[in-house]
Amino acid sequence: MKNWMAMAATAVLLWGCGAARNTVTVRETPIRTSLDLVGTDQDRVMVSVDPGAFPEGPVRFLIPKTVPGTYSTDNYGRYVEGLQAVDYKGKPLEVRRENPNQWVVSDGANLDRITYWVNDSYDAEQGGEEAPFSPAGTNIKAPDHFMLNLHGFVGYFEDLEELPYELVIRAPGALKAATSLQGTRGEDGSYIYRAGRYFDIIDNPIQFTPSAPEYFQVGDITVGLSVYSPNGQYTAADFRPSMQRMMEAQKAFLGDIDGTRTYNILLYLSTMEEDDAMGFGALEHHTSTVVVLPEQLPLPQLEETMIDVVSHEFFHIVTPLNVHSEEVQYFDYNDPKMSAHLWMYEGTTEYFANLFQIRQGLIEEADFYARIMGKIQNAMAYNDALSFIEMSRNVLDPAYEPQYANVYEKGALINMALDIILREQSGGSMGVLGLMKALSAKYDQDTPFKDEALIDEIVAMTYPEVRTFFDTHVIGDTPIDYQRFFAKVGLVMGDREVESGYFIKDLQSQMPFIDVDPSDTDRIFVREGIDLNSFLTGLGAQGGDEIKEINGTEITLQGMQMIVGQSFSWTPDTEVRMVVERDGERITLEGLAGSPTVKEFRLGPDPDASPQAIALREAWLKG
Ligand SMILES: [Zn+2]
Repeated sequence: MKNWMAMAATAVLLWGCGAARNTVTVRETPIRTSLDLVGTDQDRVMVSVDPGAFPEGPVRFLIPKTVPGTYSTDNYGRYVEGLQAVDYKGKPLEVRRENPNQWVVSDGANLDRITYWVNDSYDAEQGGEEAPFSPAGTNIKAPDHFMLNLHGFVGYFEDLEELPYELVIRAPGALKAATSLQGTRGEDGSYIYRAGRYFDIIDNPIQFTPSAPEYFQVGDITVGLSVYSPNGQYTAADFRPSMQRMMEAQKAFLGDIDGTRTYNILLYLSTMEEDDAMGFGALEHHTSTVVVLPEQLPLPQLEETMIDVVSHEFFHIVTPLNVHSEEVQYFDYNDPKMSAHLWMYEGTTEYFANLFQIRQGLIEEADFYARIMGKIQNAMAYNDALSFIEMSRNVLDPAYEPQYANVYEKGALINMALDIILREQSGGSMGVLGLMKALSAKYDQDTPFKDEALIDEIVAMTYPEVRTFFDTHVIGDTPIDYQRFFAKVGLVMGDREVESGYFIKDLQSQMPFIDVDPSDTDRIFVREGIDLNSFLTGLGAQGGDEIKEINGTEITLQGMQMIVGQSFSWTPDTEVRMVVERDGERITLEGLAGSPTVKEFRLGPDPDASPQAIALREAWLKG
């Protein structure tokens, strides 16, 4: 998963990836499920699930509480209404709801099917209660658009997660489907998909849009690109050249590590209006990704963000989709156990999403250094003296949850430091990519590692220095002294004044100048302890000010997200009126938006670097 606009506490959720429990079963009849996108009623979709025959006794039906990759508790069952169980004569059976996500039918032997209405989550995002992160959420906007993250629509029967599914979808004739699920069309035009087991239902979202997806080849991978742009601002063709160039570079970077043959990018562009998606970023799947971004971003910014976000999701094929622990493999959708290795699942992935761009020449060295510095600064918003292993195991615990988004910052930096150690010890020949290749040779989609044995195994495959590093900075809680690693590769830190966005430094570093109170996410503050940009200092804002209102919009989390979105189209002449509370007093700050700059801590080549350090840097960044 990648949460873009990761303002510390807005960073939503979760994680994990993988498969359902291995239940042995002899039944071969698929669970027949149908979704009716034509007969929607009050923005709801009717779902029918026919499980085949059951023996005597009660039967439990579940909708996921959480899904792999999200690292949050979302209770998708809360969007289900009017669930009924029907016997073979069409009569209702007794059914009891045990909690938001599970139902029990007492007379399983007579159960023919279960029917229910499903509401979408995008509509509910701005309604107060915390909705799922949009790339894991659902949209029902008949007859124009459907985002089917199927865990929001299709449930499973307890212990039957390993049975095959047949999914029949009746959709408006004008819409085009995009998904990695294999399927055919029925005589009546309905879509008929097959999934090997419940996990494959969750792993293969479907997007229905008015325009057909664009397809292109990247080596032997067929890539589909489906775009929904509610105001017709963009088409899939607009993003095709940049996505193709990016994926070719990723394929070149990974070499033979990846065996995917199909990949679908499902992009949803949000109007950011009241009933629309507000969680920007993406969620990974084995052969697809769902991306949600603001429609009002100009094309160059959207392309740049897409490159960062989609490349991150595609690299998830390496981990956790292939290399992962038993916790991930035997993922329990209603009672998940968390693995200790977010430093790898999210950290290595995010590190690769930056490293491949410099190694494949998509960005300049200076851009890469700026990204690293951005991550160092962003990581300071989190607890730097917290064991990453401890955080990872406990990430669903509300006490640890606010630290989750540091996986994209410090998680990536842990991998950078590890990469430099590996290059140094191997005389430049091996890095984190080589390590992941070695792990991929041992572990795959169906072969998990033991969570507690991974670090020992990595040390055995590499060098004793790697043990010290993990013990001290990943298992242990000692902050990393980045200067020490930069010195090894002949880099030094300094500062200079650079262009800045209004509330976020820039799209690469994503460093925000505002922060959210983790215990009350509707309280937004100007960040303390960092250098603010000239826009905020020019208005007279100070670190610690609580922002109450901007240009008439009341500042809650959603209000702030809306203003951040709008600020992308501000010009230097835009007038800004901001009300803040400082020391219990309300103060109105007014001025022009201007062209903000900010002091940037800069990483760059040390003119006095030794030839050995320069050679190590070349091995690290150029291979
Ligand atoms: Zn991720």
